Amino acid sequence: MDLYSSTTESDYVRIDADLLIPGRGPPLKDATCILQSRSIAHVGLRSSLPDEYTSLPTIHTPTLLPGLWDTHTHYYGARRLSIDAFYATPPALAGARTARDLAATLNAGFTSVRELGGWGHQIAEAVSEGSIVGPRIYSAVSPVSMTAGHGDAHGIPLPALRGAIEHGLPLHLCDGIPDCTKAVRQQLRRGASLIKVCASGGCTSQLDDPEHQHFSDGELQAVVEEAARSDRIVAAHCHGKAGIIAALRAGCKTIEHGTYMDDECMHLMREKGAILIATRTFFEAGLKVRELWSPESYAKLEGPAATHKEAYAMAVRGGVKIALGTDLGLGGVVSDCPVGIVFSHGSNGKELVYAVEAGMSPMEAIEAATANAAETLGPKMAPKSGQVKLGWDADLIAVKGNPLTDIGILAEAENVSHVWGVGRLYKAPQMKDCAV
Ligand SMILES: [Zn+2]
Repeated sequence: MDLYSSTTESDYVRIDADLLIPGRGPPLKDATCILQSRSIAHVGLRSSLPDEYTSLPTIHTPTLLPGLWDTHTHYYGARRLSIDAFYATPPALAGARTARDLAATLNAGFTSVRELGGWGHQIAEAVSEGSIVGPRIYSAVSPVSMTAGHGDAHGIPLPALRGAIEHGLPLHLCDGIPDCTKAVRQQLRRGASLIKVCASGGCTSQLDDPEHQHFSDGELQAVVEEAARSDRIVAAHCHGKAGIIAALRAGCKTIEHGTYMDDECMHLMREKGAILIATRTFFEAGLKVRELWSPESYAKLEGPAATHKEAYAMAVRGGVKIALGTDLGLGGVVSDCPVGIVFSHGSNGKELVYAVEAGMSPMEAIEAATANAAETLGPKMAPKSGQVKLGWDADLIAVKGNPLTDIGILAEAENVSHVWGVGRLYKAPQMKDCAV
């Protein structure tokens, strides 16, 4: 049998790992995992492997762990970090760049993403039918923003922007409670797995202030209530404290960025069981690509970068539940745009390094990028992914070396030797990289 061909229904694959990190719970030394078709058929110590599996062709790896998740990403295919650039990028160009970006994401060991706005929801069909390779995409479709909010393209005349939105540009403006309810229904109609709401200003938008709350309390409640009726959670973009508190009180499940979080916010997060997605990559990588921002946006990023770092460390110390997301990235960046490479899809793994810098152990960082990450979709929408468990989806990666002693191993795609997505082998030493 050729180990590196795609699996078929009846195929079994045996993976022996010196170290198996299950995503949640203690690691196992000298473990074996058996895949059958799309799911995990057995996991345990090699010494107690059932006889029926002992003669299977075997892949050996230093470390096996669940496929990683990026719970905050965007596939807008734009080459500048501005909402206006999303408007200005033709959809076909964005799609072509996104095909490359999805492959790069998978190549880096990320088998699932939550897309919090972007074209990924349209391209997901090409991934699932096998036309292109990529992670599983759980998309919010369009971020829901108020007029003049973070999801508005402030430099574009409103009639032109509304026209582009009508024709599918993944942005959305709404104002007032009935309009917010309708906005959620419109995202559901286009296949949203979750809803993303902009509860404060942001950096990639021009004229708004990240410390201001966006949407009234009533509008935020309307978004959450409408989403909940369809078992969707709401992810809230928020930097400032007012937006964080309002989003949590309204019932948003995940807080994106959390830049100005304080003790009161952390208390409310724990009380509500909300999950923080700090997106440290957005700041770390964003500060390295000054030429790709407008001066106004760069100032909005640079100003609170240190505050964000402190808030993230405080949340780790304070026991807030955390999942990892990056807020990447630029579209289709290859050698023609060398400055953008640090902000491009495929560099997702650096978020684990930043998590450890914020105070997590490597085990905690991996749990935040796997088991916790799948839970950011809520109990009704989360797949059985992010843990190496009997009967769960065969989303797995094999890596060279031990990320528990050097988390930086997960930051480089070249250290990821194998990638399985729902049982299909996408990457192995004998195969071309997914991103080639
Ligand atoms: Zn984002």
